[in-house]
Amino acid sequence: MSKILVVGSVALDTVTTPFGSVKEALGGSAVYFSISAIKFLEPFDVRIVAVVGEDFPSKYLKLLKKNKIDTEGLKKEKGKTFRWIGEYNYNLNEAHTIDTKLNVFENFSPEIPSAYKNTPYIFLANIDPDLQEKVLNQVISPKLVVLDTMNFWISSKKESLKNVLKKVDIFLLNESETRQISEEFNILKAVKKILSWGPKAIIVKRGEYGAIYFDNSSIFYVPSYPLEKIYDPTGAGDSFAGGFLGYIAKKDKVDRKTIKQATVFGSIMGSFAVESFSLDKLRSVRWKDILKRYKEFKNFTYF
Ligand code: AMP
Repeated sequence: MSKILVVGSVALDTVTTPFGSVKEALGGSAVYFSISAIKFLEPFDVRIVAVVGEDFPSKYLKLLKKNKIDTEGLKKEKGKTFRWIGEYNYNLNEAHTIDTKLNVFENFSPEIPSAYKNTPYIFLANIDPDLQEKVLNQVISPKLVVLDTMNFWISSKKESLKNVLKKVDIFLLNESETRQISEEFNILKAVKKILSWGPKAIIVKRGEYGAIYFDNSSIFYVPSYPLEKIYDPTGAGDSFAGGFLGYIAKKDKVDRKTIKQATVFGSIMGSFAVESFSLDKLRSVRWKDILKRYKEFKNFTYF
């Protein structure tokens, strides 16, 4: 077992899907990631560095603590918490951003507490790439750095993103972001181009169609877990990342076999996230629920 440091957004999300809506629910890339990753680790082995505003409801802070997330690095600053308003139509693989209010993130400069600087596994969750870079400049010899982003940062800060990618081991992004950042339609061509910028591997997330792992010498396909009811895809990507890195940190290994298994655990955690709005389902998931889906995965992919 090892520890993970995550830097990302802690948000109040207002989300509408064809199956309902929520207003100012707990969300954010760092939150979905942590609640997913902690299932694989010992209590308080996931450390969040992020910022919230004075209006951040205390019940949400309690929820993080109750779920055994280390919130020492979660700062409260003057101003309002980050807010995201998003909408999905029947194509649940694509989020439409209606509004993004950075609020306290506008002036945030992540400071990694000295006790966190040696954390072996780092997740740079979806956040301003300049902040992701600042984090990497403070940590000491991590074993693995994984980075996520989204269309918002690809269109507004592509050069910053390309810079930080030089220092990243595994880059997670969804299919449309893969095309957007590479300016290539064909996914193989896109992946080749992105790999040439620095990351050692890329995982392309494909929503209900699963995910594909690529590095310079191999490709590995993972389907998504078949679900009859999906309520809200928000957070699926971050929960995927939580399962992926959570499993790697649990094993404390980065060999090929572990990475393949971790990709399956990523897909499983994404499947729990989409079964409810906000974190309602994800936070109630137990280890035996995860293992049950892992066994089923083995059966429906073995031939
Ligand atoms: P995903 O896992 O990709 O569905 O990420 C969903 C989360 O990303 C939501 O809970 C949002 O609060 C958060 N989010 C949306 N836009 C941004 C942004 N520009 N920067 C950081 N986080 C964001």
